Amino acid sequence: MNFHLLKRKLQDLNQPDYRFAQAKRAFAVDYVDSWEAVSTFPKAVRDALSAEIPWMSILPITTQVSKEGDTVKTLFNLVDGKKIEAVLMRHEGGRNTVCLSSQVGCPMACTFCATGTMGLKRNLTAEEMFDQVIFYAHYLKSTQAHVTNVVFMGMGEPMHNYDEVMESVRLLNDPTGFNLGARHISISTCGIVPGILKLADEPLQVNLAISLHSAIDKTRSSIMPVNNAYSVKKLMDAIDVYTHKTNRKVFFEYLLLDGINDTKVEARAVANLLQHNYRLFHVNLIKFHDTDQDAYKATQTDSRLRFMRWLQEFHVPVTHRRTFGEDIDAACGQLAVNESAGLVSQGKTAIRANKSAKRIMKVKA
Ligand code: SF4
Repeated sequence: MNFHLLKRKLQDLNQPDYRFAQAKRAFAVDYVDSWEAVSTFPKAVRDALSAEIPWMSILPITTQVSKEGDTVKTLFNLVDGKKIEAVLMRHEGGRNTVCLSSQVGCPMACTFCATGTMGLKRNLTAEEMFDQVIFYAHYLKSTQAHVTNVVFMGMGEPMHNYDEVMESVRLLNDPTGFNLGARHISISTCGIVPGILKLADEPLQVNLAISLHSAIDKTRSSIMPVNNAYSVKKLMDAIDVYTHKTNRKVFFEYLLLDGINDTKVEARAVANLLQHNYRLFHVNLIKFHDTDQDAYKATQTDSRLRFMRWLQEFHVPVTHRRTFGEDIDAACGQLAVNESAGLVSQGKTAIRANKSAKRIMKVKA
């Protein structure tokens, strides 16, 4: 929901100030599903708001649930017909993480990424990002569960849409609204140096994750064109400024691609790059979800474990990240790319958004 628009409309309707807080609470705390259900408002006000302020800025088209039930992936329509996706990952122990999109498509063109093939269509607004989380908060409500973490790791490069991303972070963090602690929010970047430097000056203590994927310029540039603008050294200089100013841990994501970045030389380069600050650096190894169409293949399990052992021998703090939803078009951007190509699965694990979901997501056509 667009809270700025709402505030203006309530003023136009000569409503007292507390109405805004009531509406925000209904939307972001109680997860009420429509203006009609905001029972604290007079009917005439509800009708006027319903006609002009869409309850949600995004409409779910398809939701897929993995066989294990721990991953839920949703494709959304935006008001201009463009599509984005978001994923809910349900961890053992009750943690529920939403991975959201920050752009339609992405301009960064990483060669292993489905979203990178789309190019940039447009930036998302803060409410379009916030509403991805609200959708899953509503989804979880029936099981008494909550969204506990948010990661900006879906479609798009968050630092390329910095202001709107930070506005959505403030919406998530708002103590009178959704009230998610900043430490439960992570922003991931492929290495946009000015964005990292800006984040270092933000008062909010959000986490920073870096998509590293190689510590060697030649390899990194071959899979991530951003490295031509911001080399490994420039990236590391910015990260050092960030850690110096914030004293916050930085997470390095490392997607293992067979024969590309999974050699001992690559492991040694990661160790050399990070060894000056192991206290504040942590590497997450990630399995690549390959498909028949991919130019790259996933590093097999034994080689992934070997790469991890090498890093451990070099004393790099490292974990192997659990993979979620391999059976449901799980890699970043695959669902939206498949939808544009007419390939969205309608198999057993695919469910069309049900009536109630559609009702809560009503958008103005
Ligand atoms: S990996 Fe991330 S930054 Fe790179 S193209 Fe895909 S969405 Fe963009």
